Amino acid sequence: MRRISWTLVAALSVATPAAAAPDLARMSAAELAATLKAFPKGGELHNHMGGGTPPELILEWAIEDKLCIDTVELAIRLSCTGENLRPAADIATSEALRSAMIDSLSTRHPGFRDRSAHDQFFTAFARRGTTPKRTGDALAETLEGLARQNTFYVELMVTPQYFPARALGAQVGWKGDAAATRAALTEAGIEKLVPAVIADTDAMEARAREVMKCGAPHASPGCQVTARYLFQAMRDGKPEQTMAQLQLGVAVVAADKRWVGLQLVSPEDSYESTKHYDVHMRIVAELTDTGRKTPVALHAGELNLKLVAPKTISHHVTDAVRIAGARRIGHGTALPLEVDAQAVAREMAAKGVLIETNLVSNSVILEVPPEAHPYAWFRKMGIPVAFSTDDSGITRHELWGDYAFAIRNGATYGDLKTAARNGIAFSFLAGEGLWADPNVYKRPVAACAGQIGAEAPRGACADLVAKSDKAREQWRHERLLKAFEAGR
Ligand SMILES: [Zn+2]
Repeated sequence: MRRISWTLVAALSVATPAAAAPDLARMSAAELAATLKAFPKGGELHNHMGGGTPPELILEWAIEDKLCIDTVELAIRLSCTGENLRPAADIATSEALRSAMIDSLSTRHPGFRDRSAHDQFFTAFARRGTTPKRTGDALAETLEGLARQNTFYVELMVTPQYFPARALGAQVGWKGDAAATRAALTEAGIEKLVPAVIADTDAMEARAREVMKCGAPHASPGCQVTARYLFQAMRDGKPEQTMAQLQLGVAVVAADKRWVGLQLVSPEDSYESTKHYDVHMRIVAELTDTGRKTPVALHAGELNLKLVAPKTISHHVTDAVRIAGARRIGHGTALPLEVDAQAVAREMAAKGVLIETNLVSNSVILEVPPEAHPYAWFRKMGIPVAFSTDDSGITRHELWGDYAFAIRNGATYGDLKTAARNGIAFSFLAGEGLWADPNVYKRPVAACAGQIGAEAPRGACADLVAKSDKAREQWRHERLLKAFEAGR
């Protein structure tokens, strides 16, 4: 029969099932790794610039920059004056020293120097000795690492103008409450540091482009990754120092579209972090109008009962959401142990407060095996989740490894696809997104109905993609998802 029966074609197209979703739980470890490395993971929302670089590269920079190694502490030192120091160049001729340094700058060797994994992790930052002039190199490494994993959006946590901001905070002092301290910091000229942050950002990006040869014929795929930055402030020290950093962050986000939100970091279980937790929440609320004026993501609930007392573990996520107005929570691992956790979880699901879930980091630092991670409960409660690495240069893994751990937690391919899409939908990128129902993804916005995954957007959808950063990244991701699923 030469003539095509369109009735028959229509019937066949209805009857032909869509390609079956891959059954990731039944895959061998090798097949899972190959599949998840290639799977387009949307965006990464929780990635610290200071912890993303592998030790091998940090050691390479130390050689190039003629730094030294403290052979007792197994740490990189910026100065070569003092005792027990050897030129970093010696690692080129001593595999034993090189191997010991990789142990010291990472968590690969459990029980190294009798430290707990938590202590090994958090003390590693001071031993890494990276200098501000290498931030562009570190950025390039992160962008290239994501591109190698078919992932093209990242929000990186960075700490610009740390010393000047903290010094101004110390000079101003605490004025009795957040509002009065804010006024004093404004008076003292905290916003005068904004141009320096913008200049640092320009220099960092220019260096990253140089490293990746962006614009040249053989440019790195890392050039295709869109980066935005979260201004991270340290929880340690005095509250006015933390506040000075955050207040500078608010001004930077208002001034430069590459900076999209705030974060609060440093070990959440430390003396000062726990002591000042309440005042930090009030500071964030004051500076951001409870998250309405400036987007805020906060580390909260990166805790367990080995690290903190029961009272401390009972309220951090709750306060970050209800007092500070956080739109995203970093970790949230201890949320089930908070007072009224079920109600808070329901509230997060209803409001769309996402948890940046770091399964590998949590398995190392908090010793939570992926099978026991509360991610299963987050799914059950409808809390949006996206996966991220936290500090993959220290934990020595890649983003696909977090996705692989999610399978061990009971996630399906559909859950992973949702998490990948969440990595852009819950980003702080400017503009309207493609989806009317983030965390579900059944209903596009009206302008793009029937067009998701098409080769190019048309009509009003084309206008949306042209003018919205978020829609543009989502469009690209949907194309990648379609190609990935078609290629299976
Ligand atoms: Zn983190």
